Amino acid sequence: MAKKSFSLSLYPWTYTAKYTTNGWIEEYQAKPHLGAEKEATLSEQEREALLERRNSFPQLPLVNFSTQYALSVFEGLKAFPQKDGSLRLFRPEQNAERFKRSMEGILMPPFPPELFVNAVKTLVRQNKNLGYYPRYSDTWEKDGFLSGHSVYIRPFSYSEPGIGLNQSEHPWVVIVSTPVGAYFEGPNNKAITSDMIRATENGTGWIKCASNYVISTLAKKKANSQGYMEAIFLDAKERKYLEEGSSCNIFVYLKDGTLVTPALGDTILPGITRKSIIELAQSMGIKTEERKIAIEEVMDSAKEVFVTGTAAGIAHIESVTHKGRTAVFADGKMGELTRELLLTLKGIQYGSHEDKFGWMTDIE
Ligand SMILES: *Cc1c(COP(=O)(O)O)cnc(C)c1O
Repeated sequence: MAKKSFSLSLYPWTYTAKYTTNGWIEEYQAKPHLGAEKEATLSEQEREALLERRNSFPQLPLVNFSTQYALSVFEGLKAFPQKDGSLRLFRPEQNAERFKRSMEGILMPPFPPELFVNAVKTLVRQNKNLGYYPRYSDTWEKDGFLSGHSVYIRPFSYSEPGIGLNQSEHPWVVIVSTPVGAYFEGPNNKAITSDMIRATENGTGWIKCASNYVISTLAKKKANSQGYMEAIFLDAKERKYLEEGSSCNIFVYLKDGTLVTPALGDTILPGITRKSIIELAQSMGIKTEERKIAIEEVMDSAKEVFVTGTAAGIAHIESVTHKGRTAVFADGKMGELTRELLLTLKGIQYGSHEDKFGWMTDIE
Protein backbone atom coordinates (compact mmCIF):
# COMPACT_ATOMS: atom_id res chain seq x y z
CA MET A 1 0.00 0.00 0.00
CA ALA A 2 1.47 3.32 -1.04
CA LYS A 3 -0.61 5.60 1.08
CA LYS A 4 1.10 6.31 4.31
CA SER A 5 3.58 8.67 5.75
CA PHE A 6 6.14 6.34 7.04
CA SER A 7 9.56 7.60 7.97
CA LEU A 8 12.26 5.92 9.98
CA SER A 9 12.59 7.86 13.20
CA LEU A 10 13.10 5.14 15.77
CA TYR A 11 11.91 5.62 19.29
CA PRO A 12 14.75 5.23 21.84
CA TRP A 13 13.81 2.00 23.60
CA THR A 14 14.70 -1.14 21.62
CA TYR A 15 14.58 -4.83 22.42
CA THR A 16 16.84 -7.73 21.48
CA ALA A 17 16.62 -11.39 22.43
CA LYS A 18 19.46 -13.73 21.51
CA TYR A 19 18.89 -17.46 21.20
CA THR A 20 21.58 -19.30 23.15
CA THR A 21 22.02 -22.83 24.44
CA ASN A 22 20.33 -21.48 27.60
CA GLY A 23 17.32 -20.24 25.67
CA TRP A 24 16.36 -16.64 24.84
CA ILE A 25 18.40 -13.94 26.59
CA GLU A 26 16.42 -10.68 26.57
CA GLU A 27 17.76 -7.14 26.69
CA TYR A 28 16.05 -3.75 26.65
CA GLN A 29 18.22 -0.86 25.59
CA ALA A 30 17.57 2.89 25.56
CA LYS A 31 19.37 4.26 22.50
CA PRO A 32 20.69 7.86 22.48
CA HIS A 33 17.94 10.42 23.04
CA LEU A 34 17.38 13.94 24.38
CA GLY A 35 13.68 13.72 25.20
CA ALA A 36 10.87 14.16 22.70
CA GLU A 37 10.43 17.92 23.34
CA LYS A 38 14.09 18.80 23.04
CA GLU A 39 14.42 16.72 19.89
CA ALA A 40 11.60 18.66 18.26
CA THR A 41 13.78 21.79 18.50
CA LEU A 42 16.84 20.25 16.78
CA SER A 43 17.96 21.28 13.33
CA GLU A 44 17.35 18.68 10.65
CA GLN A 45 21.04 17.86 10.58
CA GLU A 46 21.27 17.37 14.34
CA ARG A 47 18.15 15.26 14.30
CA GLU A 48 19.45 13.04 11.50
CA ALA A 49 22.72 12.53 13.34
CA LEU A 50 20.86 11.52 16.49
CA LEU A 51 18.55 9.16 14.59
CA GLU A 52 21.55 7.59 12.91
CA ARG A 53 23.07 6.81 16.29
CA ARG A 54 19.74 5.39 17.39
CA ASN A 55 19.63 3.07 14.39
CA SER A 56 23.02 1.62 15.17
CA PHE A 57 23.31 -1.86 16.65
CA PRO A 58 27.02 -2.59 16.93
CA GLN A 59 26.39 -5.92 18.67
CA LEU A 60 24.72 -7.32 15.52
CA PRO A 61 27.16 -8.90 13.03
CA LEU A 62 27.20 -7.41 9.53
CA VAL A 63 27.96 -10.61 7.65
CA ASN A 64 25.35 -13.24 8.43
CA PHE A 65 22.63 -15.39 6.85
CA SER A 66 20.08 -12.57 7.04
CA THR A 67 22.12 -9.94 5.23
CA GLN A 68 23.66 -12.42 2.74
CA TYR A 69 20.79 -14.82 1.96
CA ALA A 70 17.65 -13.06 3.21
CA LEU A 71 17.10 -15.63 5.95
CA SER A 72 15.01 -13.18 7.88
CA VAL A 73 11.40 -12.83 8.95
CA PHE A 74 9.51 -9.85 10.31
CA GLU A 75 6.24 -8.51 11.67
CA GLY A 76 4.41 -5.21 11.64
CA LEU A 77 1.83 -4.16 14.20
CA LYS A 78 0.48 -0.96 15.69
CA ALA A 79 -0.39 0.69 18.99
CA PHE A 80 -3.19 3.26 18.83
CA PRO A 81 -3.61 6.37 21.04
CA GLN A 82 -6.88 6.39 22.97
CA LYS A 83 -8.98 9.31 24.18
CA ASP A 84 -8.07 8.58 27.83
CA GLY A 85 -4.37 9.08 27.03
CA SER A 86 -3.48 5.39 26.95
CA LEU A 87 -2.14 3.33 24.03
CA ARG A 88 -3.67 0.03 22.96
CA LEU A 89 -2.32 -2.71 20.69
CA PHE A 90 -4.31 -4.37 17.91
CA ARG A 91 -4.24 -8.19 18.15
CA PRO A 92 -0.55 -8.54 19.11
CA GLU A 93 -0.96 -12.24 19.97
CA GLN A 94 -1.83 -12.85 16.31
CA ASN A 95 1.45 -11.27 15.18
CA ALA A 96 3.27 -13.30 17.83
CA GLU A 97 1.85 -16.57 16.48
CA ARG A 98 2.60 -15.64 12.88
CA PHE A 99 6.16 -14.62 13.79
CA LYS A 100 6.67 -18.03 15.39
CA ARG A 101 5.35 -19.80 12.27
CA SER A 102 7.54 -17.62 10.02
CA MET A 103 10.65 -18.46 12.05
CA GLU A 104 9.82 -22.16 11.87
CA GLY A 105 9.26 -21.71 8.13
CA ILE A 106 12.91 -20.71 7.64
CA LEU A 107 14.21 -23.25 10.18
CA MET A 108 15.00 -20.76 12.93
CA PRO A 109 14.20 -21.60 16.55
CA PRO A 110 10.66 -20.27 17.12
CA PHE A 111 10.36 -17.20 19.31
CA PRO A 112 7.82 -17.85 22.10
CA PRO A 113 4.61 -15.81 21.58
CA GLU A 114 4.48 -14.87 25.30
CA LEU A 115 7.91 -13.24 25.01
CA PHE A 116 6.83 -11.45 21.83
CA VAL A 117 3.69 -9.93 23.34
CA ASN A 118 5.40 -9.01 26.59
CA ALA A 119 8.34 -7.38 24.78
CA VAL A 120 6.04 -5.36 22.49
CA LYS A 121 3.99 -4.10 25.43
CA THR A 122 7.07 -3.25 27.49
CA LEU A 123 8.71 -1.41 24.63
CA VAL A 124 5.66 0.73 23.86
CA ARG A 125 5.25 1.49 27.56
CA GLN A 126 8.91 2.42 28.09
CA ASN A 127 8.88 4.77 25.11
CA LYS A 128 5.62 6.30 26.31
CA ASN A 129 7.12 6.86 29.78
CA LEU A 130 9.89 8.87 28.09
CA GLY A 131 7.31 10.92 26.20
CA TYR A 132 7.75 9.16 22.85
CA TYR A 133 4.22 8.45 21.65
CA PRO A 134 1.59 10.14 19.47
CA ARG A 135 -0.89 12.24 21.48
CA TYR A 136 -4.59 11.54 20.85
CA SER A 137 -6.25 14.36 18.93
CA ASP A 138 -9.99 15.10 18.83
CA THR A 139 -9.59 16.28 15.24
CA TRP A 140 -9.08 12.66 14.16
CA GLU A 141 -12.69 11.96 15.13
CA LYS A 142 -13.92 14.23 12.33
CA ASP A 143 -12.72 11.90 9.56
CA GLY A 144 -13.28 8.63 11.40
CA PHE A 145 -9.59 8.41 12.35
CA LEU A 146 -8.32 8.28 8.77
CA SER A 147 -5.98 11.08 9.89
CA GLY A 148 -5.03 9.25 13.11
CA HIS A 149 -1.43 8.69 14.14
CA SER A 150 -0.08 5.49 15.68
CA VAL A 151 3.04 3.64 16.80
CA TYR A 152 4.35 1.18 14.24
CA ILE A 153 6.21 -1.74 15.83
CA ARG A 154 8.63 -3.81 13.78
CA PRO A 155 9.90 -7.11 15.19
CA PHE A 156 12.41 -8.99 13.02
CA SER A 157 14.90 -11.81 13.17
CA TYR A 158 18.63 -11.41 12.57
CA SER A 159 21.04 -14.30 12.18
CA GLU A 160 24.34 -15.10 13.88
CA PRO A 161 27.54 -14.57 11.87
CA GLY A 162 28.00 -16.83 8.86
CA ILE A 163 28.77 -16.82 5.16
CA GLY A 164 28.50 -20.47 4.07
CA LEU A 165 24.93 -21.31 3.08
CA ASN A 166 23.19 -22.42 6.23
CA GLN A 167 20.11 -21.99 8.37
CA SER A 168 20.29 -19.66 11.36
CA GLU A 169 20.36 -21.63 14.61
CA HIS A 170 21.13 -18.85 17.09
CA PRO A 171 19.39 -15.73 15.81
CA TRP A 172 18.44 -12.52 17.53
CA VAL A 173 14.95 -11.13 17.63
CA VAL A 174 15.06 -7.35 17.43
CA ILE A 175 12.10 -5.06 18.05
CA VAL A 176 12.04 -1.38 17.16
CA SER A 177 9.22 1.13 16.83
CA THR A 178 8.55 4.38 15.03
CA PRO A 179 5.69 6.90 14.91
CA VAL A 180 3.41 6.76 11.88
CA GLY A 181 1.68 9.94 10.78
CA ALA A 182 -1.58 10.64 9.03
CA TYR A 183 -2.71 8.62 6.10
CA PHE A 184 -2.06 10.50 2.85
CA GLU A 185 -3.96 9.91 -0.35
CA GLY A 186 -1.66 8.85 -3.15
CA PRO A 187 -1.95 10.32 -6.64
CA ASN A 188 -4.53 7.65 -7.48
CA ASN A 189 -5.88 4.27 -6.36
CA LYS A 190 -5.52 2.46 -9.66
CA ALA A 191 -4.14 -1.08 -9.80
CA ILE A 192 -2.69 -3.17 -12.61
CA THR A 193 -2.08 -6.91 -12.73
CA SER A 194 1.60 -7.81 -12.62
CA ASP A 195 3.35 -10.24 -14.94
CA MET A 196 5.74 -11.08 -12.09
CA ILE A 197 5.23 -13.99 -9.71
CA ARG A 198 5.27 -13.30 -5.96
CA ALA A 199 4.85 -16.80 -4.62
CA THR A 200 4.63 -20.40 -5.82
CA GLU A 201 3.26 -23.61 -4.35
CA ASN A 202 5.74 -25.22 -1.95
CA GLY A 203 7.44 -21.85 -1.59
CA THR A 204 7.47 -19.22 1.17
CA GLY A 205 4.45 -17.07 0.25
CA TRP A 206 2.65 -18.13 3.44
CA ILE A 207 5.25 -16.67 5.82
CA LYS A 208 6.37 -13.09 6.35
CA CYS A 209 9.97 -13.40 5.21
CA ALA A 210 12.22 -10.71 3.76
CA SER A 211 12.89 -12.56 0.49
CA ASN A 212 9.20 -12.39 -0.50
CA TYR A 213 9.53 -8.63 -0.69
CA VAL A 214 12.02 -8.55 -3.54
CA ILE A 215 9.45 -9.38 -6.22
CA SER A 216 6.77 -7.32 -4.46
CA THR A 217 8.97 -4.23 -4.52
CA LEU A 218 9.92 -4.71 -8.18
CA ALA A 219 6.30 -5.27 -9.21
CA LYS A 220 5.10 -2.25 -7.28
CA LYS A 221 7.80 0.03 -8.68
CA LYS A 222 6.94 -1.10 -12.19
CA ALA A 223 3.23 -0.42 -11.59
CA ASN A 224 4.11 3.02 -10.12
CA SER A 225 6.23 3.87 -13.17
CA GLN A 226 3.21 3.06 -15.36
CA GLY A 227 1.02 5.42 -13.31
CA TYR A 228 -0.67 2.90 -11.01
CA MET A 229 -0.63 2.83 -7.22
CA GLU A 230 -0.73 -0.91 -6.79
CA ALA A 231 0.34 -4.15 -8.47
CA ILE A 232 -1.90 -7.20 -8.26
CA PHE A 233 -0.34 -10.65 -8.40
CA LEU A 234 -1.99 -13.58 -10.17
CA ASP A 235 -1.35 -17.26 -9.42
CA ALA A 236 1.89 -18.77 -10.70
CA LYS A 237 0.35 -21.79 -12.40
CA GLU A 238 -2.56 -20.61 -14.51
CA ARG A 239 -1.93 -16.84 -14.37
CA LYS A 240 -5.65 -16.54 -13.85
CA TYR A 241 -6.55 -16.32 -10.16
CA LEU A 242 -6.16 -13.34 -7.86
CA GLU A 243 -3.49 -13.65 -5.17
CA GLU A 244 -2.51 -10.45 -3.37
CA GLY A 245 -1.60 -6.82 -3.77
CA SER A 246 2.10 -5.95 -3.59
CA SER A 247 2.23 -6.38 0.19
CA CYS A 248 -1.39 -6.63 1.18
CA ASN A 249 -4.35 -8.97 0.91
CA ILE A 250 -7.14 -8.31 -1.55
CA PHE A 251 -10.93 -8.37 -1.28
CA VAL A 252 -13.59 -8.23 -3.98
CA TYR A 253 -17.18 -7.24 -3.23
CA LEU A 254 -19.29 -8.78 -5.97
CA LYS A 255 -22.44 -7.26 -7.44
CA ASP A 256 -24.40 -10.19 -5.95
CA GLY A 257 -23.47 -8.99 -2.44
CA THR A 258 -20.76 -11.57 -1.66
CA LEU A 259 -17.41 -10.47 -0.26
CA VAL A 260 -14.67 -12.72 -1.64
CA THR A 261 -10.98 -13.01 -0.81
CA PRO A 262 -8.50 -15.62 -2.05
CA ALA A 263 -8.36 -18.70 0.21
CA LEU A 264 -5.21 -19.16 2.28
CA GLY A 265 -2.63 -21.66 1.08
CA ASP A 266 1.05 -21.76 0.21
CA THR A 267 0.94 -18.50 -1.68
CA ILE A 268 -1.24 -16.16 0.39
CA LEU A 269 0.03 -14.38 3.48
CA PRO A 270 -2.48 -14.81 6.32
CA GLY A 271 -3.02 -11.13 7.07
CA ILE A 272 -4.39 -10.18 10.45
CA THR A 273 -6.31 -7.31 8.86
CA ARG A 274 -7.67 -9.84 6.32
CA LYS A 275 -8.87 -12.11 9.11
CA SER A 276 -10.38 -9.18 11.02
CA ILE A 277 -12.22 -7.87 7.96
CA ILE A 278 -13.74 -11.31 7.33
CA GLU A 279 -14.94 -11.42 10.95
CA LEU A 280 -16.28 -7.84 10.77
CA ALA A 281 -18.11 -8.42 7.48
CA GLN A 282 -19.70 -11.62 8.78
CA SER A 283 -20.86 -9.86 11.93
CA MET A 284 -22.50 -7.25 9.68
CA GLY A 285 -24.43 -10.02 7.93
CA ILE A 286 -22.36 -9.90 4.73
CA LYS A 287 -21.88 -13.23 2.97
CA THR A 288 -18.14 -13.89 2.78
CA GLU A 289 -16.22 -16.50 0.80
CA GLU A 290 -12.58 -17.57 0.88
CA ARG A 291 -11.98 -19.21 -2.48
CA LYS A 292 -10.24 -18.92 -5.83
CA ILE A 293 -11.37 -15.84 -7.71
CA ALA A 294 -10.50 -15.40 -11.36
CA ILE A 295 -9.34 -11.99 -12.56
CA GLU A 296 -12.09 -12.15 -15.23
CA GLU A 297 -14.70 -12.48 -12.48
CA VAL A 298 -13.29 -9.35 -10.83
CA MET A 299 -13.34 -7.42 -14.12
CA ASP A 300 -16.93 -8.50 -14.90
CA SER A 301 -18.67 -8.78 -11.54
CA ALA A 302 -17.01 -6.66 -8.85
CA LYS A 303 -18.64 -3.53 -7.45
CA GLU A 304 -15.89 -2.75 -4.92
CA VAL A 305 -12.29 -3.89 -4.57
CA PHE A 306 -9.98 -3.13 -1.65
CA VAL A 307 -6.67 -4.23 -0.17
CA THR A 308 -5.88 -4.75 3.51
CA GLY A 309 -2.79 -4.58 5.72
CA THR A 310 -1.54 -3.05 8.93
CA ALA A 311 -0.11 0.06 7.23
CA ALA A 312 -3.37 1.61 5.98
CA GLY A 313 -5.97 -0.79 7.34
CA ILE A 314 -8.01 -0.76 4.15
CA ALA A 315 -7.27 1.03 0.86
CA HIS A 316 -9.88 1.02 -1.88
CA ILE A 317 -8.91 0.13 -5.44
CA GLU A 318 -10.59 2.45 -7.93
CA SER A 319 -9.83 0.36 -11.00
CA VAL A 320 -8.01 -2.74 -12.17
CA THR A 321 -6.24 -2.91 -15.51
CA HIS A 322 -5.60 -6.37 -16.92
CA LYS A 323 -4.27 -7.15 -20.41
CA GLY A 324 -5.16 -3.67 -21.66
CA ARG A 325 -8.71 -3.68 -20.30
CA THR A 326 -9.72 -1.50 -17.35
CA ALA A 327 -12.63 -2.09 -14.97
CA VAL A 328 -13.66 0.82 -12.71
CA PHE A 329 -15.36 0.12 -9.37
CA ALA A 330 -17.82 2.35 -7.48
CA ASP A 331 -17.22 5.19 -9.97
CA GLY A 332 -13.60 5.21 -8.87
CA LYS A 333 -14.51 6.25 -5.32
CA MET A 334 -14.39 4.37 -2.06
CA GLY A 335 -17.40 2.04 -2.10
CA GLU A 336 -20.04 1.90 0.63
CA LEU A 337 -19.01 -1.42 2.13
CA THR A 338 -15.31 -0.56 1.92
CA ARG A 339 -15.98 2.68 3.83
CA GLU A 340 -18.13 0.99 6.45
CA LEU A 341 -15.49 -1.68 7.09
CA LEU A 342 -12.68 0.88 7.21
CA LEU A 343 -14.51 3.20 9.62
CA THR A 344 -15.50 0.29 11.86
CA LEU A 345 -11.95 -1.06 11.96
CA LYS A 346 -10.45 2.37 12.74
CA GLY A 347 -13.20 3.04 15.29
CA ILE A 348 -12.32 -0.14 17.16
CA GLN A 349 -8.60 0.63 16.99
CA TYR A 350 -8.95 4.22 18.28
CA GLY A 351 -11.62 3.28 20.82
CA SER A 352 -14.66 5.13 19.44
CA HIS A 353 -16.41 1.83 18.58
CA GLU A 354 -17.10 -0.96 21.02
CA ASP A 355 -14.39 -3.62 20.82
CA LYS A 356 -16.89 -6.46 20.72
CA PHE A 357 -14.37 -8.99 19.40
CA GLY A 358 -11.82 -8.28 22.17
CA TRP A 359 -9.13 -7.30 19.66
CA MET A 360 -7.52 -4.46 21.64
CA THR A 361 -4.90 -5.05 24.32
CA ASP A 362 -3.61 -2.68 27.03
CA ILE A 363 0.14 -2.09 27.25
CA GLU A 364 0.08 -2.00 31.05
C1 LIG B 1 2.14 -8.31 6.07
C2 LIG B 1 1.51 -8.72 4.79
C3 LIG B 1 0.13 -8.58 4.58
C4 LIG B 1 -0.81 -7.93 5.55
O1 LIG B 1 -0.84 -8.53 6.79
P1 LIG B 1 -1.44 -7.76 8.05
O2 LIG B 1 -1.29 -8.74 9.16
O3 LIG B 1 -2.85 -7.47 7.74
O4 LIG B 1 -0.64 -6.53 8.22
C5 LIG B 1 -0.39 -9.05 3.38
N1 LIG B 1 0.41 -9.59 2.43
C6 LIG B 1 1.72 -9.72 2.60
C7 LIG B 1 2.53 -10.33 1.52
C8 LIG B 1 2.32 -9.30 3.78
O5 LIG B 1 3.65 -9.43 3.93
